[in-house]
Amino acid sequence: MRLYENEAKTIFEREGLVVPRAHGVFERGEDVAAAIGPDSPVMLKALVLIGGRGKAGGVRKARGGTEAGAVAKEILGRRIGGYLVDRLLVEEAVDAPGGACYVGVTMSPADFNITVIVSPAGGVDIEQVAREAPDTIMRLEIPGNDASLSDADASRLAAFLAAGLAGGAAQIDALKSVLARVYAVFQKYDCKIAEINPLLFTAAGPVAADAKIVLDDNGLYRQGGMFRLLGLTEVRHDVSEPTRNEIRAREAGFRYVDLLAEDHVKDPGRLYVGLVPGGAGYGIFSIDEVANVGERFFGGRVVPVNFMDSGGGPTVGMVAEMFDLLMDDNVVDLVITSRFGGISSCDVFIRGLVGCLRERRAEGRRVVPVIGRMVGTDLPSARDFLERAKRETPEELAELHITVGNRKIMAEVIREGIRSAFDRKGWA
Ligand code: GDP
Ligand code: MN
Repeated sequence: MRLYENEAKTIFEREGLVVPRAHGVFERGEDVAAAIGPDSPVMLKALVLIGGRGKAGGVRKARGGTEAGAVAKEILGRRIGGYLVDRLLVEEAVDAPGGACYVGVTMSPADFNITVIVSPAGGVDIEQVAREAPDTIMRLEIPGNDASLSDADASRLAAFLAAGLAGGAAQIDALKSVLARVYAVFQKYDCKIAEINPLLFTAAGPVAADAKIVLDDNGLYRQGGMFRLLGLTEVRHDVSEPTRNEIRAREAGFRYVDLLAEDHVKDPGRLYVGLVPGGAGYGIFSIDEVANVGERFFGGRVVPVNFMDSGGGPTVGMVAEMFDLLMDDNVVDLVITSRFGGISSCDVFIRGLVGCLRERRAEGRRVVPVIGRMVGTDLPSARDFLERAKRETPEELAELHITVGNRKIMAEVIREGIRSAFDRKGWA
């Protein structure tokens, strides 16, 4: 889980590092203009969970409130690396007569050793420094997973940095202190990355002008204190910005991931398959199997649309919402579903599904064919309900094809469902 810059700075400050004085986090240019005095130089920084904001125009300086308001309006509403900028951190601009450097603590993916990385080439992308000027980087592995940075290691790292900085040896003690504290943050907060870039050298000493923290999700269970400190109430899943479908699923209480970009342009020569698959494992199997069947028998013209975990005993309303979500998405041509009833009841499942189809028909909303299978818990009553429903409202459920019980394996159901969809489209 990645933290926003202001959150990372809150942690760094709490652990004794100096950060620029913050004016606050803002969502509107007018508020920035009103909050900043006429002669206060400030930095405006896009709060997005991605690096390289400087190069992308997401970090700008302003000389006072009026200019800051105008700059804020330019940055807000833009996109940086796919992220919408809807909040800005505004803080005092720091003068750096003593230069800048890079300080980072991370974990070596090869051997899991904690690795401290420093470079007097601060402010720039450290990967770029590693490529273009590897001599200006020092890496130190700490094989023992020590709780704190040893004085000897801090001294070696600080001496290397000081040799490349304007302030020279006079900075060593301050650098040692910064290094020890960043290392301590890394350990105390179960980080994968704790990084300052740039660390700016002001007349009063080093200041963390930027802060990056990536938490190890496996350690989140013991970071309740940090969640309270930052006012966070839930774990942030930040692989990318959630899509509309993902937000809708989260609100309804089931796990869902779109496999296609939200602005995906539909290829009219392909069949797009939405999945209501059962548990998470079945969700992954279904994606795999739809793609696999598509490759082997349908010339690669079949596209799975989503991952969903529809297991864990959803209510009738939640089941209906799972199908509603996919049918509301115009990209979906066909829904394939599987109820492997364990914790979940086939009865609840079929009532949710039939209810969804009837309601959509009644309201004239979009309906796509649903094919699938149900086996397991509550199957007898589910079968009765489905048979009765089909007798009572055959035309409303004309596009519902559920295999009841173990007559067919799911792979066959998937293949036959895709075949019938191809036939309906008149495709070979
Ligand atoms: P990043 O590009 O996402 O890593 O964002 P940064 O916070 O590192 O900002 C980009 C660049 O802006 C930094 O590398 C600095 O050169 C500059 N910068 C940021 N804050 C300050 C500041 O307070 N004073 C000065 N002089 N420069 C700053
Ligand atoms: Mn930076």
